[in-house]
Amino acid sequence: MRADILARHWGEPIGSLVDGAVVPGAGEAITLVCPATEEPLATYADAGAEIADRAHAAAERGGAAWRALTPSKRGEILMRAADLVARDVDAIAAVEGLVAGKPIRDARAEVGRVAEMFRYYAGFADKIEGRVVPVASGHLTLVTPEPLGTIVQITPWNAPIFTAGWQLAPALAAGNAAILKPSEWTPVTSLMLGRLLIEAGVPAGAVTVITGFGRTAGAALVSDPRCGKAVFVGSVPSGRKVASLAAAAGRPSLLELGGKSAMIVFADADLAAAATCAQGAIFAAAGQSCTAGSRLLVERPVYERVLAWLAEGAARLRVGDPLDPATEVGPLQNARQYASVAAMMEAARAAGARLVLGGGRPEALAETAGFYVAPTIFADVTPEMSIAREEIFGPVLAVIPFEGEEEALALANGTEFDLAGAVWSRDGAKALRVARRLRAGSVWVNGYRTLSVQAPFGGMRGSGFGRSSGAEVMAEYTQAKSLWIETAETPIFPFGYAPGA
Ligand code: NAD
Repeated sequence: MRADILARHWGEPIGSLVDGAVVPGAGEAITLVCPATEEPLATYADAGAEIADRAHAAAERGGAAWRALTPSKRGEILMRAADLVARDVDAIAAVEGLVAGKPIRDARAEVGRVAEMFRYYAGFADKIEGRVVPVASGHLTLVTPEPLGTIVQITPWNAPIFTAGWQLAPALAAGNAAILKPSEWTPVTSLMLGRLLIEAGVPAGAVTVITGFGRTAGAALVSDPRCGKAVFVGSVPSGRKVASLAAAAGRPSLLELGGKSAMIVFADADLAAAATCAQGAIFAAAGQSCTAGSRLLVERPVYERVLAWLAEGAARLRVGDPLDPATEVGPLQNARQYASVAAMMEAARAAGARLVLGGGRPEALAETAGFYVAPTIFADVTPEMSIAREEIFGPVLAVIPFEGEEEALALANGTEFDLAGAVWSRDGAKALRVARRLRAGSVWVNGYRTLSVQAPFGGMRGSGFGRSSGAEVMAEYTQAKSLWIETAETPIFPFGYAPGA
């Protein structure tokens, strides 16, 4: 019974973590389904607006208690949180594999990244420094970065623990309280992380995890005037809705949305390396990754050769049970995503794309349950096909031929998304020239997908705005305050009369 894994590592009914206690919801029932077997794992009730209200009240109190600690103390607590995440890597990864369908070795790596995030931002806690500005009036003018108050963070199902740590660590390091609303389909590892943060010493209300739907709990959280900023990681339509709700309440937002990232391979590239790297770009996480390299642009003279190497390699990827340590490609997370990927593949076929590999369930898993899709490659894709323009969020690669730099750039920059991209060439000047003109928040030269908490990450245009990770994120989680101190012996006031004069 897979549900036993949940019982072993979470051990209580699923609810929202408010003021350090798990509170059951009272709304519509939500059933977590195992992506690998389709068996129900647990059912819980949507938190709804009432618990969201309690969460904000708790965050106001908890945030004040958090800010009453010295920055060094906050850093110490976040460092302890990093150690606790590392301590519980097996448990968190097992639940992530079970509920999100993430292959266990990837899940372990992602939990490790979360520990790194807390370590990195723990170091920031006592280094958020202000400055003295030499103003014309001669005042001693201090600029101090202040927390925003309560940050509402809404995260998706494709990388639950990763995106939770990614946003919680810097928000807390900057002295904010955080209310995290994970995806309704994958809330458990976020609850586990919330519990660990409280164990580490974060005041209970300063970290809250609300379990429920976006349209109910999520919308209530971001529309509340006690929300200082809405941080959203997820799809374009939901992100736009969240940003509108926040804007209607007069609050800023940060959006980390989807992508349709292109890897450009020139004929003079190390083709074997490019064909290998392209597999990780799209098939890791079964393509359910915002940075998925879902378009491969290959220069005509080497097009068929790269395609053949790629197909040969991808056919050897081990697709299967995410809890099996040998698995490289797991299932899709949910039935809706499975149906959506199937429809996108059908549309590609109908539009005339050439199916080179996959295109349905893996043969070995044809008769089993689980939301499995074989690594799929479509060649001869043209830019107007939906498979070249829309995010598929599955293990489906669109391969497109091109001739020369200008056509490569026109194709790569020709979608609404600008999240990531890559250039492969042995000609350094050409690679840099093209990389600089690629419109994307992250660009790799002769590589793909390496990410670090130390470097900023985020989208341009349709892929969102604001930056997560890196030192840049501190500006997202603080606001500048100017403090004017009069030091002149005889201050000059430009307006008003002295009493009796
Ligand atoms: P989704 O937009 O359906 O849901 C994301 C979150 O938003 C969930 O928690 C959901 O409950 C909530 N939500 C939905 N509607 C809402 C509303 N009206 N008000 C408030 N909250 C609402 O996205 P998903 O399907 O869970 O995730 C997949 C998407 O996430 C893909 O597009 C992927 O590219 C994107 N993503 C982006 C990044 C990034 O950093 N750019 C990282 C991971 C995933």
